[in-house]
Order: sequence, then structure tokens, then C-alpha cells
Amino acid sequence: MPRTILVWFKNDLRLRDNETWYRACQHGDRVIPLYVFDPRHFVPHKLGFPRSGSFRTQFLIESVIALREKLRTIGTDLIVKIGLPEFVITEICTENQVSDVFTASELTDEEIRISSVVAHSLALKNITFTTFETTTLLHPANLPFEIAVLPDQFTTFRKAVERNLIVQLPYEEPEVKPLPSIDSDKIPTLQDLGLPKAEPDTRSVITYAGGEAAALRRMQEYLWDKDLLKTYKETRNGLIGADYSSKFSPALSLGCLSARTIYYEVKKYEQARVANDSTYWLIFELLWRDYFRFVAAKYGNKIFHAQGIRKKETRWQHDIKKFEAWRTGNTGVAFIDANMKELLLTGFMSNRGRQNVASFLTKDLSIDWRWGAAWFESQLMDYDVCSNWLNWAYVAGVGNDPREARYFNIESQVRKYDPKNRYSNLWLSGS
Ligand SMILES: Cc1cc2nc3c(=O)[nH]c(=O)nc-3n(C[C@H](O)[C@H](O)[C@H](O)COP(=O)(O)OP(=O)(O)OC[C@H]3O[C@@H](n4cnc5c(N)ncnc54)[C@H](O)[C@@H]3O)c2cc1C
Repeated sequence: MPRTILVWFKNDLRLRDNETWYRACQHGDRVIPLYVFDPRHFVPHKLGFPRSGSFRTQFLIESVIALREKLRTIGTDLIVKIGLPEFVITEICTENQVSDVFTASELTDEEIRISSVVAHSLALKNITFTTFETTTLLHPANLPFEIAVLPDQFTTFRKAVERNLIVQLPYEEPEVKPLPSIDSDKIPTLQDLGLPKAEPDTRSVITYAGGEAAALRRMQEYLWDKDLLKTYKETRNGLIGADYSSKFSPALSLGCLSARTIYYEVKKYEQARVANDSTYWLIFELLWRDYFRFVAAKYGNKIFHAQGIRKKETRWQHDIKKFEAWRTGNTGVAFIDANMKELLLTGFMSNRGRQNVASFLTKDLSIDWRWGAAWFESQLMDYDVCSNWLNWAYVAGVGNDPREARYFNIESQVRKYDPKNRYSNLWLSGS
């Protein structure tokens, strides 16, 4: 009997350097590419806003459309379903004599639980469920320590991994395999998902759409066409425009681009153009991204607890009025409000902005950091469960920050990063 493998795409919406897809095409006689829109992702949070808001969801829809178009150009298709993966996947597998489901491995509680339920219901039908590590730069098997003893400080982690940095070569795009005939739902619109239109804003710093091809074009533009990588370390704390930093994060969060693809492109750039502090620093930031994933694997559900992984008791306030003022950019502190308006109107905020608004919410307003993280989860186009929750915990003082009581003094941050108020004026006078 021909071996039929179902590939369950999640946050790995690409064909290049995707081990899940590569192995399925290598081992399967027939391969079913599937994406499932899970309604649980779009339900309202208890604070009233959707778990996944319009900007984030729009980028997802674009990425799924792009994946389907790409698959069609190579002679197959993407089956799209709206429903609970635990039911949808078992049904497709039973109807199509699927022997295996291949998918990316998960690190965080909700995703692990859903994966486990899918695996369990497939096991009852003798269908194998296999996962692959597709999101990190470093394969967990190549770490110099077990996850259980991962250092709690990034610097210790970084120095240990940099002593012998092993980055697997990206997987090539495999030869595609035939697809059995299966009905697909149509890709939902924002309206179908109960979300308002994501109105474009000319001040938005994200200038590319979702999908692998657009992400690769952004990488080409940032590294080669505009030659921006060589000054990344000097520009990365910027606030205005597309080019102060790479803006790879939305593509990375949905896996339209892999961290390893970026790594090897940086290595090529270092050979062809220049290797300096800036080229190193982009890899350094990708190590931060990896680190937070491994921290999530080590601490499990604790990353979502009010006391965080440090188990630090803090009296967080739950003042909805103050929170709403912060969320909508109406605190009266111009730099904070400008950043919050940018997030509200475009679904993005710079790293400098994120640190300041997170510090302001948790240290100046003493509001529960998890409320801030939940708003970012809804709004950020580049929302990533590990990067978001662990960066929030870090700034709130309950995460991996070795420094006690880190505090961002907004006035001195403005003097340093927005001395002429260009950024604040851009968002507060033009909106
Ligand atoms: C409170 C808070 C919440 C955050 N939430 C997210 C989130 O949900 N998703 C997300 O991708 N990043 C998050 N970040 C990290 C960082 O702000 C963004 O990755 C960065 O601003 C994205 O822009 P860029 O791609 O131009 O970054 P660049 O400066 O060009 O960096 C390149 C890549 O390195 C990674 N990176 C950079 N800084 C960090 C960091 N501090 N932590 C983890 N990875 C990093 C990202 O993948 C980024 O795309 C958060 C930071 C803070 C302080």
C-alpha cells in the first residue's frame, strides 16, 4: 500500500528549510499538506480584545495564501480546514488511509496539549505522529547541556553555545509528492473570523506581506540590496522606518523564514561584504530567540505565572482604567503613548519601544505584566509565545534578568532615543 503522510503546517509556513516537509516528501508516496485554522485562537480574551487581533491574523492569512499558491505552482495544493485539529486531522487521516502525521514539535502548554490530543486520537487508529524541531537556530540535540540544567542567565548560555556553535545546514526544498483528492475549506477572511479590517497606515514599519517569498525578498533587501546589515548594531535601537532593524520577526514568528536560513545568509554576507560587530549582533539576537524557547521548555507553564520563573511574589494591580489608558495610548506620557498608538494602529513596535512600555506598565503603573503580555499577544504581527511572554517576564522582573529592579527611566530614554521628539510627534500629531 502506498505510504500517505499528512504534513500539519503550523508556525512553519515555508517549504525551504522545513524538515517536516522535507522528510514527508522523502518518505511518503503521497503527501497531504494541511493547515488548520483553530477557532480557539480567535476567541476574545477575558480583557475584551481578541486573542489574535486583525494585524496578526491578516499576516497569518497572507502567509497561508502564499503557501497554498507556492504549493500549487509545484503541482500540489494546501488543504485548509477550519476546526479543531484533534477532530479535523483524525477525520482526514481515516478517510485517506494516512499512515503518518508529521508536524513541528511544540514547547508551550496549550500547543503541547493540543498536539498530545491529536497524537492520542491518531494512536487509537494506529497512525504514527512524528515531530521535528523546525523553529530554532540551534537544534536542541546540539546544545552542550540538557534542557533541565539550562543556565538561567542568557550570557552563560550564549558563551557555552558559542564555544562550539553547531548550526545545521538548511534543508533544500524536496521533490514534491502527489496529493490525494480532498475537499478544502476556503481560507477564511478576517470577517469570517469575526475580526475588523486591518486598516493600513502609511507610517507602518513592516513593509512586506506574509509568506515565504516576501520574507526572502525582505532578507535580500535588508542584507544585499540596501546593505543594512553592516550597521545593524548602531541602528537597531531606532524607532522610525523599515530599516533601523531587520523586521524579520513577523516572518520568523510564522516560520515563513527559518533562523538557519538567516544564519547562513549572514555568513555569506560576511564572506562577500564585511564581518563586523553588526553581523555578529544579528546572530546574537537570534540566540536570544532560541534561549527563550529553551527556557520555555525548561520551565513549562511557569512562564505564564504571575510570579514567573523566579517565583517572585509581587503585588500586581488589576486596575482596568489604568490598563486601558496604557493600551490605547492615553497615559499622558508622550513616548509611551506614541509607542502604544503605533502598536494599536499597525501591529508592530520597536524593541526599544517594547522595553519602555512594558517597564512603564509594570514598574510605573504596577499593573499585572500578564495583562500587557496578553495585549501584545493580540496585537503584535510578530507574536511569538516564547519571545513575548519571556521578554515580558524579563522586563517585569520575574524572568531571566540577572539584574534586580531594572527600571527604564522614560525621560532619559527619550533624551537618548528620541531627543527631538520626532517619533512621538509622528504618532501623536498624525493619528
Ligand atoms: C515586552 C517585549 C515583548 C516582545 N515580544 C516579542 C514577540 O512576541 N515576538 C518576537 O519575535 N519578539 C518579541 N520581542 C523581541 C523584540 O522586540 C522583537 O523580536 C524585535 O523588535 C523584532 O524586530 P526585528 O525583527 O526588526 O528585530 P531585529 O533587531 O532585527 O532582530 C532580529 C531577530 O532577532 C530576534 N530578536 C531580537 N530581539 C529579541 C528579543 N529581545 N527576544 C527574542 N528574540 C529577539 C527576533 O527574531 C528578530 O526578528 C519582545 C520584546 C519585548 C521587550
